[in-house]
This record gives sequence, structure tokens and C-alpha cells, in this order.
Amino acid sequence: MTAERLDGKRIAQEIREEIAAEVKEFMNAGHAPPCLAAILVGEDPASQVYVRNKERACEKAGILGKTFRLPASTTQSELLATIADLNATQSVNGILVQLPLPSTGNGGEGFDERAVLDAVDPLKDVDAFSPVNVGLLMQGRHRFLPCTPHGIIQLLHRYKLTTSGKHVVVVGRSDIVGKPMAMMLAQRDGSCGGEIANATVTIAHSRTGNLTEICQTADILIAAVGVPEMISGEMIKPGAVVIDVGINRVEDRLVGDVDFEEASKVASAITPVPGGVGPLTIAMLLHNTLLAAKLQKTEST
Ligand code: NDP
Repeated sequence: MTAERLDGKRIAQEIREEIAAEVKEFMNAGHAPPCLAAILVGEDPASQVYVRNKERACEKAGILGKTFRLPASTTQSELLATIADLNATQSVNGILVQLPLPSTGNGGEGFDERAVLDAVDPLKDVDAFSPVNVGLLMQGRHRFLPCTPHGIIQLLHRYKLTTSGKHVVVVGRSDIVGKPMAMMLAQRDGSCGGEIANATVTIAHSRTGNLTEICQTADILIAAVGVPEMISGEMIKPGAVVIDVGINRVEDRLVGDVDFEEASKVASAITPVPGGVGPLTIAMLLHNTLLAAKLQKTEST
């Protein structure tokens, strides 16, 4: 078997075009352009690239992208004050704090990341990290959905790969990917309807004893671990759909959490790295920014 390659880049482009059209429609109705404020603390090179990519993606979709660059010497209270200002600024619809925050920040003590993320107004929380938005997701009445898992839902939907009644194994239980992914797929209904929900979900993590056996029972295997190519071909059930969230730099190349070559011989469909899940994350950030603007409806002046 040679697995179908699930082209996240193409799907992300499709979504971005849809959002650009919706932004135009929104502005034609007399509203100000949606505006995303990104807060970048310190000089981390990878974070600078991510923020620049987000700015560019915003621009292409007709969304205003503003980056607030703060020095690594910023204190916790200064960072919280910046967030409070942006919460109160009517023309800003979405706020994201680029992670990781520098460990040397806040006078060398490091930031209280939880307190920083909690400070973002839940109505502007386009990363969906706020306990309010996490709680709404848990209860099946979501507002903002976290970008990476939502991108995966969109990818499955647009490739007509359903999850209803199937066994999904999610390897990884982070607040950003694993946990919300599992929760979204276990719901009765979702952003793409009941066919991309209603799964029987198993969450695996670093303490899972029999990981290989559990993975072998997955109709859909989602790896969000951060360990290069740890999911081998023998861990995959023949014909399974494999979604690789991992982005790991090994020497000078990017690899996922799945051994792509081996897995492609066993799976029916698989996302590559790069070009799989990654591009969808930014597309769904744009989606959330437009949604935030619609929820806040700032009138054009
Ligand atoms: P975290 O480090 O927050 O979480 C990793 C999870 O994997 C943890 O739950 C951990 O278990 C589990 N884990 C670690 N080692 C093993 C193991 N040997 N066996 C089973 N489980 C294990 O990572 P993230 O969720 O933030 O990210 C995961 C990967 O996805 C990374 O490569 C990251 O770069 C990538 N990523 C990609 C995105 C994209 O847009 N494509 C967006 C976000 C992340 P435990 O809880 O027990 O420690």
C-alpha cells in the first residue's frame, strides 16, 4: 500500500482564500478590517519567523496584523499592562502572545505563562487558550477552537475522511494540541458536523505502557509528541489514517513524529512534514481573527 499524501498546504491555501473573501464581505458591510495583535517578547529567532509569517498571512487575507515587540527585559506587570491595553482597544479584535516566553524575562525570574495567557480577554483569545474558551469546548458549545486541532478537523473534512464511530488514538496530551484534539473528536458535534466528531478516543502519553499495541488499534492515529520519527511503521494498523503534528529539526531538515517512509507503506493516508498540519495552523488563526471581529463588530469610521 502507498498512502495518499494529505496536502495540508493546498487545503490551507483553500481556507485562506475563503477567509479573504469573507473579510471582503465583512468590510463591504461597513465594518473595520479585522485586526490581530501579536505580542512578541525577546529575540527568539524561531518566534520572530513565526510572527513574520503570521503578519504576512494576515496581510494576504485583508486582516490587519500588528506586532508589539517587547524586549526580553520586560517585566510580568509590563506584559500584563500591554495585554490590558490591547483588551481595551476596540480596533484590536484578536490577541496572541507568541510562545515560548523567554525564560530570562521578568528580571531573570521568567514569566508566569499561565497568568499571561489568562489575561487575554476571552472574546479576543484567538489561540483559544483561555479557560473560558477551553470550558466552552469541553461542553460542546465552542466559540474559538484551538488552531492546530481545528486545522486537522478541516483537513479530515475536506478529504472526506470521517471519524464518527472510529477509534482515534491521539499520542500527546498538551493543552495546545493533544487534549483539545481528543476532546473535539469525542464530541457529538463539531465545527464540520457529526461526521468529524463522534470518535472513540484514546489519549496516549509518555507514561502509556503499551503504546505500540494501542497505536496498532487506531483507525486514525494523531501524533503530537515532539520526538522525531518515534511512530514506526509497525505501530500503524494497515489502512489507518495518520496525522503527524510533530515539527522536529534534525540537523538541517524538518521531520515529524512519524517515520514517514515506513508509515506510507502501511497507512491509507498520511500528512507530510513539512506541508501537512503546519500550514493549517495559521489558516485557522486567520479564521479565529475574523470570527473575533464578527463577534465584536467594530464599525468602520
Ligand atoms: P508538548 O511537549 O507540550 O507535549 C508532548 C506530549 O507528548 C506530552 O503529552 C508528552 O507526554 C507526550 N510524549 C512525549 N514523549 C512521549 C513518548 N515517548 N511516548 C508517548 N508520548 C510522549 O508538545 P506539543 O503538543 O506542544 O507539540 C507536539 C509536537 O507538535 C512538537 O513537535 C511541536 O513542535 C509540534 N507542533 C506543531 C504545530 C503545528 O502547527 N504543526 C503546532 C503545535 C505543536 P507527557 O504529558 O506525559 O509529558
